[in-house]
Amino acid sequence: MNYSCPLPPACLNLIGSLFHQDEWRCVLIGSHHAHVKAWPSLGLTFFNRVWGRQQRKAWLRFSGQPFDIVHFPEVIPLNVGGTYFTTRLSTLRRYEDTMLAAMFSGRHHIPRDAEGRFFIDRDGAYFGDILNFLREGELPQRDRVRAVHKEAQYYAIGPLLDSLEDTQPLTGEKVRQAFLDLLPYYKENLEQIVEIAKVRAMQKKARFAKLKICVYKEEMPVTPYERPLFNSLRFERSESEAKIFEHHCEVDVSFGPWEAVADVYDLLHCIVSDLAERGITADQQCIGVCDKHLINHYYCKRPIYEFKITWW
Ligand SMILES: [Zn+2]
Repeated sequence: MNYSCPLPPACLNLIGSLFHQDEWRCVLIGSHHAHVKAWPSLGLTFFNRVWGRQQRKAWLRFSGQPFDIVHFPEVIPLNVGGTYFTTRLSTLRRYEDTMLAAMFSGRHHIPRDAEGRFFIDRDGAYFGDILNFLREGELPQRDRVRAVHKEAQYYAIGPLLDSLEDTQPLTGEKVRQAFLDLLPYYKENLEQIVEIAKVRAMQKKARFAKLKICVYKEEMPVTPYERPLFNSLRFERSESEAKIFEHHCEVDVSFGPWEAVADVYDLLHCIVSDLAERGITADQQCIGVCDKHLINHYYCKRPIYEFKITWW
């Protein structure tokens, strides 16, 4: 069998193994072409979750050719999770490599509700924003950008995803993430803060929990003698010297060091706002520095912040 489709045979075998016999068909046209069709329930889940955009495109182009089973009216009544919408068929098919275009391509069976509306089993709260973009490229209001982005991911609408990612607050998040990528342990530390604060408050039957958190940007300690120099020159030590200064401050969680323009206050802002995002109120204040003696006249001097987490 000679497959001339854009997917390699190994890929076809993999798809074949994921679908039941009646959901998977190969129709041979002549001896050189194979056309494959997968039914929507499994097929769409599969290529949204597992495949990248390029593969998805290839799959749609490929699977679309020989089949034209369902004929849709020009105006489509929709029921998205109980919310009703009406739109043109051409709107749903606006961008070819999207899930909606695939669903309404005529290649898939779509269930209907009791009134005959095409049914999509998804929360309809943001579907209007999706339709408005497909109709005339309209973008949602700022407070809906995040939620619509999530829906656009589900429906695999690439142009909407691109536009939203160039819109606030998603652009800001991208910029912020570029900084946080310098701290690969950031998420883990955040989890740790939440966990420690939870355990501490429960043990004490308290409304608040306090944590000591060290946030430092520079690896090496700076003494009063070196500070003037430090501002004008890059502060460097050999690796063997660096070992002498290595230690863990006596705190609950520690962030640092990093090399970026963003400073300690920027990172504190990240921590507090990420906790707020999870519904956790956190206040922080600097309560001094780590005064561990390292060697000679060197003390750690990393700043220590007290975080107060309010649970209720
Ligand atoms: Zn220290």
